Amino acid sequence: MFRDGYHYSPGSGNGILVDVTATILETTTPGPTAGPASTDKRVLLLKPRGFCAGVVRAIDIVKIALDTFGAPIYVRKEIVHNRFVVNELAEKGAIFVDDIDQVPSGMRVIYSAHGVSPAVREQSKERKLKVIDATCPLVTKVHVEAIKFAKQGYSLILIGHRDHDEIEGTLGEAPDVTQVVSSAEEVKALQVPDPDHVAYLTQTTLSLDEARDIIQALKEKFPKIAGPHSQDICYATENRQTAVKNVAHQADLVLVVGSNNSSNSNRLVEVSQNLSTRSYLIENSAAIDSVWLDGVSTVAVTAGASAPEILVEDVVAYLRDRGFGSVEEVEVMPENVRFGLPPEIVQAIQSAPGATPATV
Ligand code: SF4
Repeated sequence: MFRDGYHYSPGSGNGILVDVTATILETTTPGPTAGPASTDKRVLLLKPRGFCAGVVRAIDIVKIALDTFGAPIYVRKEIVHNRFVVNELAEKGAIFVDDIDQVPSGMRVIYSAHGVSPAVREQSKERKLKVIDATCPLVTKVHVEAIKFAKQGYSLILIGHRDHDEIEGTLGEAPDVTQVVSSAEEVKALQVPDPDHVAYLTQTTLSLDEARDIIQALKEKFPKIAGPHSQDICYATENRQTAVKNVAHQADLVLVVGSNNSSNSNRLVEVSQNLSTRSYLIENSAAIDSVWLDGVSTVAVTAGASAPEILVEDVVAYLRDRGFGSVEEVEVMPENVRFGLPPEIVQAIQSAPGATPATV
């Protein structure tokens, strides 16, 4: 039973939250007898894959806000890094903007799952915006650590990708004392006022292996470096990478469903390639080049944390049409994480006409 995602459903009677993933799984996992009987071509469907708890929460927040307050609802940046999700929400009335100054004064704005810097919060206040914060709680954890280290006078090294929305937000917590590094090579050039008073944090969606190498380089350069109490790379990033590591050797090809700008999806491709299994990042089945399948008998399919299951279904259907008749789900570890909704959304749900108390 696949029970790690819940979606808001306005038409579900008492319904605030309903579990829809079990249904999705039934349609994508046909069991051992499905497909052409004679085929030896197979699909290994990795689990866990796709939506994480932070993404489910962020999408639910936009849907509930649209449902409760009505369109338009402004969203700063892509709510999650997936084109399909963004387009779907835009069709329902969400307006995606890059900057707060594109939101008319006094309107409602949602911050994306990747978080924002204090400067953005300040700008929203100046424009008298009604803010709903969809920042993933695991991103907030990193912000809190950055604030704590900065208050204690540490120089902060933030490991991550400079152009990513999450790094922009975390960096903004303590910009005067924070430096971003993206590789072990860059560590060599770091200069800090006191090498005995340095701390590091990481982006939540990095490659575990790459982050480990960078942290090792930091420890060699700054032997007294402090770090977070628990790893900043989130459970969803780690679980999806572990699943690829466990299954890539059984496959000739690994297809990762996700958008180009999705950090955790790109890392899944790298994990597979590092294990010498060919891998491609695909937005959906239309992005598959049929030549990739030449001579391939086993394709492993996974999805980044922001890619919806419907796109995985689409890829599986494409492969089935090309003779990959056996679809086997390979569960590498269970995943049962859920996050609560922010207070402003809980309040909105509770005051909606006909609403009954629900676990949020
Ligand atoms: Fe949160 Fe991790 Fe999902 Fe990002 S990938 S939204 S940090 S759970």
